[in-house]
Amino acid sequence: MTGHDRPRPTATGDDRPPRTLTGDDRPPPTVTGHGPPPPTVTGRDPRRVRHAPPAGLPDAGLLARRPRAVVVGGGIAGLTAAIALAERGVAVDLCERRDHLGGRAGGWPAALPDGTAVDMSRGFHAFFRQYYNLRALLRRTDPDLALLTPVPDYPLVDAEGRTDTFRGLPRTPPWNALAFALRSPTFTPRDLLRLNARAALPLVNVTVPGTYERLDGVSAEEFLTRLRFPAAARHLAFEVFSRSFFAPPERLSAAELAVMFHLYFLGSAEGLLFDVPSVPMHSLWTPLGDRLAALGGRVRLGTAIHAVRPVPDGFQVDLGEESTNAEAVVLALDVPGLRALVAASPGLGPPGWRKRIAGLATAPPFLVHRLWLNRPVAADRPAFLATGGLPPLDNVSVLERYDRSAAEWARATGGSVVELHAYAAASSREETTARVLERLHEIYPETASAKVVGALSEWHDDCPLFAPGTFFDRPAVAGPVPGLVLAGDGVRIDLPVALMERAATTGWHAANLLLSAWNLAGHPMTTVPLRGRLAWPFPAVPGGRPAWPSQTVPERRA
Ligand SMILES: Cc1cc2nc3c(=O)[nH]c(=O)nc-3n(C[C@H](O)[C@H](O)[C@H](O)COP(=O)(O)OP(=O)(O)OC[C@H]3O[C@@H](n4cnc5c(N)ncnc54)[C@H](O)[C@@H]3O)c2cc1C
Repeated sequence: MTGHDRPRPTATGDDRPPRTLTGDDRPPPTVTGHGPPPPTVTGRDPRRVRHAPPAGLPDAGLLARRPRAVVVGGGIAGLTAAIALAERGVAVDLCERRDHLGGRAGGWPAALPDGTAVDMSRGFHAFFRQYYNLRALLRRTDPDLALLTPVPDYPLVDAEGRTDTFRGLPRTPPWNALAFALRSPTFTPRDLLRLNARAALPLVNVTVPGTYERLDGVSAEEFLTRLRFPAAARHLAFEVFSRSFFAPPERLSAAELAVMFHLYFLGSAEGLLFDVPSVPMHSLWTPLGDRLAALGGRVRLGTAIHAVRPVPDGFQVDLGEESTNAEAVVLALDVPGLRALVAASPGLGPPGWRKRIAGLATAPPFLVHRLWLNRPVAADRPAFLATGGLPPLDNVSVLERYDRSAAEWARATGGSVVELHAYAAASSREETTARVLERLHEIYPETASAKVVGALSEWHDDCPLFAPGTFFDRPAVAGPVPGLVLAGDGVRIDLPVALMERAATTGWHAANLLLSAWNLAGHPMTTVPLRGRLAWPFPAVPGGRPAWPSQTVPERRA
């Protein structure tokens, strides 16, 4: 039985506890583990779902031998898995090829041409309130999430100057969607009547993997055309979402778009407003590395893993000059890193799995361009502005509105720190940079005459592409051989999660699979409701079972 067969929760009040799924009749374990007890997950949505942890012993010290695991990749997925394992007393090596943690959400100290010390990162990140599993990780070192600060609103603007905002919207679906549509300048009552309600149904009856079964073969572009959405609303509401997945709508699976709508809007009552770090990004991840070390783990920065070889009682992990052995390996790399590592590890996994890894695609490049300007932007510029129909610009953030270190620089110099993002870039780095600057000058004209004191930019193509028709080929968290698990935002998990929250959720789940195999207690997880408000039973997935038997304790595989 999967959770999809279970009755839906009926809680309505905000302070009701979340629904708990156990799927297992063993009593919940009393977990003590290493370090302080993990903080409780909070949220306002009474329909959020708590997934009970696999039962087991509280600490690996109670086993005949303490297991060892190597976690490859120090992004959110790897950090989560490493901490989850270390909290149960597993000996963990976390290996990250860069010199900082956080991966695509990472940051590092940098300097302006005049020598001033500043901070740089892989770009603005929105920490949504429904990111329960990411927040559970952050609470390990910041129990009250004091390092996050709310962004009270973020406008979406298009080339005609039409603006949508989220401030003051009801947070509970479907009232949030209704109020958004009624308030939006891009919707007229006639547009609402023209909508193809039947085609829109998949947006409100999301299940995973059912939605992929129905919609994965269709592109987001085609799906939006079927909906008969007014063109302006499409630019504003949908393309902003689609491009946040680093892909143009014609290259994004409609199922991914529908799941995203469920997670952020139609399936969750946490609201579409989000928090951002009030500190440079590395201040979030460095303390988690310290916590891992305090739990007995080893954080090995600047350590690229070259190959992983299966050996009789586990794996031999090749670190270049040396190698290390472990019973388990967590592959928590980005897509290019995962492809390269598996290709360099010929004995790892059966041919079918290796082929699926080799076939994983990345989205087109994106640009993050941060500018230190000698003049402030106008006082009414928001912390974050999303743009639609203004290619190649996707959003503009004004860092001194939320980041303490940028605020200090702005106060000291009278300037502004502005960051421009362009996703799914269609031209070269130079051209994209020139075009986003032109766009900035158009929408914030006061920046045209400002002097650029310093500029730093990041140009990468390491985000997963969720192209139509690829969901069922994505590798799942459970690896092809005992002791090998995967985590990351490109890894399949049959839960309504995305981006940073998918990275964290797959990280917890990867650790839970290993812990369960060692008869150690796992960690609970929380998600938005598993079904849309109008969900009905979907036909079974042909040839496939859910990639996470989420409501059952994972099978013992060791
Ligand atoms: C510009 C931008 C903006 C974004 N904004 C948002 C947002 O607002 N909200 C949101 O939820 N998400 C956002 N994201 C997505 C988010 O950053 C990712 O979903 C998340 O960080 C992925 O984490 P991960 O751990 O899966 O992968 P990664 O962060 O990529 O971690 C993988 C790690 O593996 C390391 N690695 C690779 N190969 C090796 C090797 N051989 N040996 C050792 N280490 C290796 C890499 O260096 C990397 O640190 C954004 C991404 C970008 C790029």
